[in-house]
Amino acid sequence: MAFRTQALFRDDAYLKTTEAEVVGLTERGGIVLDRTIFYATSGGQPGDTGSFERTDGGHVAIAATVTGETKEEIIHLPVDGQALPVVGEKVRLSIDWPRRHLLMRMHAACHLLSVVCPFPITGASVAENDSRVDFDIPDTGYAKEEVTARLMELVHADHPIFIRWISDEEFAANPGLVKSKNVRPPSGTGRIRLVCIGDNAIVDSQPCGGTHVASTGEVGEIHIGKIEKKGRENRRFRIRFGPPPVN
Ligand SMILES: [Zn+2]
Repeated sequence: MAFRTQALFRDDAYLKTTEAEVVGLTERGGIVLDRTIFYATSGGQPGDTGSFERTDGGHVAIAATVTGETKEEIIHLPVDGQALPVVGEKVRLSIDWPRRHLLMRMHAACHLLSVVCPFPITGASVAENDSRVDFDIPDTGYAKEEVTARLMELVHADHPIFIRWISDEEFAANPGLVKSKNVRPPSGTGRIRLVCIGDNAIVDSQPCGGTHVASTGEVGEIHIGKIEKKGRENRRFRIRFGPPPVN
C-alpha cells in the first residue's frame, strides 16, 4: 500500500528543517514520513539530500529522495550501513540547503528560458551547475549571446515568482498553458499547480511541481553555455551560472 506524504515543499520551497514522524520503511530500506521538506526526483529536478536527527541524537544521512508507487508517496533513501529509525519515531529533517537553493535558481532559470524561447519543450534536466532544456525547433535563429542578454533582462527586472492552484476545469479551458510537448501535467486530482512569473503572471505561467526561487532576481547571473543540435528538429540549450566565459 502506498502512503501519502504531505509535501511541505509544494507550498513553501524555503523550509530548511522540520519535524516529522516515520510511518513506514520500504523493502529497499527507504524511509517514509507523514510529511517532508525533501523534494522527490521528478519533472527533471533531482531529489533532495540531507539528514534526519533521531530522538537519541543520532543522525541518518539521506542520499536521495524518490517517489514510490504513487507520486504522493515520498521515499527517503539513506546512505548504506546506517541504523534506521523505527516506525512511529519522530525525526528532525534538514535538507542540504545550499544544493537545493542552486537547484531552485536553476529550475527558475529554465522557466525564464522557456519565456525567451517560446517553443515546445521536449525535455529538461536541472542540475546544480548546468541545466538543459530541449526545444522542438529546426533552427532557433538565436545566438547564445542574444538569449543570455534576454535572460538577464528578466533577472534584472526582479519579477516575483509564485504558485497558484487552479481547478482541472480552469486548466482544461486554457490549453495554451502547457509548454511540454510530450508530458501532460497530472490531472484528475482536482487541481493543478501553476508556477507564475511577474505581477498577475504577466511574464509566464505553466504547470510545474518543482521548487523555484521567489523572484527572478534571486536566479542571479546566468548564461547560455551552448546551443546544441540534437536532431533535425531539436535544439538543446545549456544554462550555466555566472557570466559568459571570456574567450
Ligand atoms: Zn518549474
